[in-house]
Order: sequence, then C-alpha cells, then structure tokens
Amino acid sequence: MKKLLAVLLAALSFGAWAQRNFDATVIKTTKLTDSLYMLEGEGGNIGVSVGEDGIMVIDDQFAPLTPKILTAIRAISDKPLKFLLNTHVHGDHIGGNENMAKEGVVIIAHNNVRKRMSALQFNEYIKRNVAPYPKSSLPVITFADTVTFHFNGDDVTVFHTPPSHTDGDSMVHFAKGNVLHMGDVYASTRYPNIDTESGGSLMGFAPAVDLALKRIDDATQVIAGHGPLSNKKELKEFRDVMDTIAKRADKLFKAGKSKQQMVEAKPTRDFDAKWNRNTPRTPDQYVESMYYDLARHQLK
Ligand SMILES: [Zn+2]
Repeated sequence: MKKLLAVLLAALSFGAWAQRNFDATVIKTTKLTDSLYMLEGEGGNIGVSVGEDGIMVIDDQFAPLTPKILTAIRAISDKPLKFLLNTHVHGDHIGGNENMAKEGVVIIAHNNVRKRMSALQFNEYIKRNVAPYPKSSLPVITFADTVTFHFNGDDVTVFHTPPSHTDGDSMVHFAKGNVLHMGDVYASTRYPNIDTESGGSLMGFAPAVDLALKRIDDATQVIAGHGPLSNKKELKEFRDVMDTIAKRADKLFKAGKSKQQMVEAKPTRDFDAKWNRNTPRTPDQYVESMYYDLARHQLK
C-alpha cells in the first residue's frame, strides 16, 4: 500500500519536467543537404526533410519549444507539414507531439512507443512516473519492424532496432540524402542512457549500431540523439566501446560481483575521458546503471 501511495505521489509530480523554462533556448539550424536539416535546441536532435512533397520532421523536443521549432522550420520551407516520426518514447523527443498534430502532421512510431505513451511509465532517467499521454499526441500509424517513405525524392527507411536505449527505438535512413538519424541509441559525446524500465538493454547497443553501420558509408552524415553531428568512423568507435564495456560488465556480473564491486572494477575506465563528456552523470553512476540493467535482465 505504501508503495502504491509512493507511485501515485510521484505520478502527481511528473509535471516538473514539462515546467522547465525554455525562454533562453535558441534553435540552431544546420543544413546537411539541399533537403535535409538538423535542428538543435534543448532535448533530442531534430531531423527535417523539406521538398516538393512537403515537410517531414523527426522528433520534436519539449512542448514549450514548439513555436520556436516551427519558426526554425518555416525559415527553411513554407510547404505543408506532413509527417512526424518519433524515434522513441522519451519526453525530450516527443514532448511537442500534441502541438505538432495541431499543425496537421501524421505521427508515426514503433508499436512500443504508442503502447508506452498510452500507459503510466516510470522514467529511469528523471526518476519519475510519467502519466499516460493524451490521445491527441499519440502516433496514429505504428509499425513492428520497418516502414519506408517515398518522400521528397528520397527513400526514407525507418527501422526498429534490438532493445537498447528502450524497446521502441527506431532509426531513420535517408538513402539518397545519405543521412541517418539514430535517435538515442547513439549520443555522440557520452554513453547512452539505458532505460531498462522502458525495455532497454545494455547488451543491445552494439547489435543495434551494427544495423546502422550496414546501411551507411564514410560520407554519411549521422545525427545522434544528442550531441554534435557525427559520422561512420565515430559511430564505429562508439559501437566498439559499447561492445567492450557491456561484455566487461556482463563478465563481472556473471562472476557474482556486487554493484559496489563492479563500480570499483571500473569497466569503463579507458573510455571515460572521451565518452562521458557533456553529462552531469559520473562514470561510476553509469556503471551503476549498467549493473542495474544486468540485474533486471537476470531477474526476468
Ligand atoms: Zn531517450
């Protein structure tokens, strides 16, 4: 009963995230090709496709930022907003859904994004419950594995990855534009969060990135969920780092080490200087999240 009460109280306070002040946030636009752009503000990086068929947007950050995001998009194109793809369920990527739907976009995401948005969720990163989203912000088209858009002269493949950041992650590949949006499977300056509560898995990052590496080449512009624009070389390094630290942590876990012992073994030590930048999270805290993930999967 006590636990239920704690859950209910946490649910009531979930709004703190949405109430953050974004007055000082500036949306920065980077042109990648004649028809593809990256927008950065606060929250996940946004991809935009513009052209004769209209506008497609990938992720939409936080609801209060929608006016600024729309202004940035309108500075690129005055064509109609057609599609919005959600790479995964987190509020810093889908917070603007309801506002964007009012602009007339059709929202598309993996089945698990709609499923999780429709129910009370516990967000491990902000340590809070997130109430179910209103119907008006839910994806109206969902898919299991992959869906392809033939849009603005490009073939745009959205594909689901093995559980890694969450269990509803998708990446978006513009074959002709040679641009890949990775969602939060990839953060270009830091270890990615493992949202075990949303079905994520430490062991899934390397296999998920392998799916991306198969599709791209040395000239591909890679939009990470967070962090600066990246490329295949950096993504390959990230993949190998995640593979190494996941295997080290798994070995320690299987050897029966406690959380404290795993932290003291420092399985990420040789990568921390490069891969734990631009985050308040310490490497030790990341190792704790790895332990937590391994322990959760062990229980299942
Ligand atoms: Zn995320």
